[in-house]
Amino acid sequence: MSLNQDWLARSRAAVWHPCTQMKRHETLPLIPIASAEGMYLTDFDDNRYLDGVSSWWVNLFGHGHPVIKDAIKAQLDTLEHVMLAGFTHRPVVELSERLARLSGLGHAFYGSDGASATEIALKMSFHYWQNVGEPGKLRFVSLEGSYHGETVGALAVTDVPLFSDTYAPLLKTGLRVPSPDARLAEEGETAADVARRAASSLENLLKKHHGEIAALIVEPLVQGAAGMVMYDPLYLTLARELCDRYRVHLIADEIAVGFGRTGTLFACEQAGIKPDFLCLSKGITGGFLPLSCVLSTDAVYAAFYDDDVTRGFLHSHSYTGNALACAAALAVLDLFERDDVLSANLVKAERFDAILQPVAAHPAVRQFRHVGMIWAFDVATERGDFAQAFFAGMLSRGGLLRPIGKTVYLMPPYIIDETQMQQLADAIRAELDRLAGGQGGTASPALP
Ligand SMILES: *Cc1c(COP(=O)(O)O)cnc(C)c1O
Repeated sequence: MSLNQDWLARSRAAVWHPCTQMKRHETLPLIPIASAEGMYLTDFDDNRYLDGVSSWWVNLFGHGHPVIKDAIKAQLDTLEHVMLAGFTHRPVVELSERLARLSGLGHAFYGSDGASATEIALKMSFHYWQNVGEPGKLRFVSLEGSYHGETVGALAVTDVPLFSDTYAPLLKTGLRVPSPDARLAEEGETAADVARRAASSLENLLKKHHGEIAALIVEPLVQGAAGMVMYDPLYLTLARELCDRYRVHLIADEIAVGFGRTGTLFACEQAGIKPDFLCLSKGITGGFLPLSCVLSTDAVYAAFYDDDVTRGFLHSHSYTGNALACAAALAVLDLFERDDVLSANLVKAERFDAILQPVAAHPAVRQFRHVGMIWAFDVATERGDFAQAFFAGMLSRGGLLRPIGKTVYLMPPYIIDETQMQQLADAIRAELDRLAGGQGGTASPALP
């Protein structure tokens, strides 16, 4: 037995893996990772995989980045954790101040995972309306194809049937409005036209039901789990106007798109808007430690600030504001400043877009799209097992890409270089030739 096989057998016996039908691992092997550095994951048999999806969208600057590692180590020698009710500490104060400066929203409330940020924002919005004397506002609106996490509250505003249908009887399912998905553009329509159309559906709903609606929750610019669905920023601008007009909160779930993924630090900036609640997680610690955060407006905060205890937001998690995680997040913000990451990414993204043009031109590729440091395309194939087969094929070529259905996407750590991007592009083309037919099966260069 190789070391890999040993670890995967033990893992299958002891670990219940997330988002997985465990029986599939009878045939589809798990990849036991021994170590990771920079762009690469290394398994126990010394195979290396170029991480093209930032380990589920969390990693920003590569694995084991020394600046983040050192910040965590230094924090570890000082204070690892203290409860945040009744106590505070340097990293949580500094992080909250810096996030407020960067987002224009303050009053940072912390959780550990993205889904808990969603829960916090939903509860805060509902509780706000209670506190201001509008107890009838208790429903939430989300977009078709939305994804906001897997806990019971977050699933209620998630529209991915594979994840939510089973639990439907448990969920207080919210209202749905059409997605501004730019792919829905009809002949002669622009992405902005689709955004206007979707906004007018939203307007119809709000006009009728605003008295019972607490908030609209959106994934700004990119609906990740739906398959990197991209849309025009105009939708966010219009949604902000409508939410203001009908007194409905706007919750921006930037758990996936925050921290530069769409080209700006926060995606909402591209629409020139500020939400009432901003949910952050994933990249916030550079992919090192679990941390999430909900930022909100002074108006929201003021509605909870009172002599009456029950008007306060009595929500908590044991690890709220964990000092190690906050130290990692501070290091991430340092890196953005020190390396002027957003400007550097603009230049990189343009180069990578050029490198990926031969992929875009592949006969099986549809709807090639790109924003910031995210690329995606749909594949014309009859294969029901496309996602698995592509994933496995890429692994054998030394690349980690995990399609969502028939959508292939790249969301690499920002340290990826042109050679590595070229290797991914070549491997993608070879896999498309293998799985979706193509132009004469080019020889497939293996990735390092
Ligand atoms: C990943 C994700 C979540 C959930 O975050 P977890 O940390 O997995 O709970 C919520 N919203 C969006 C947009 C996400 O991509």
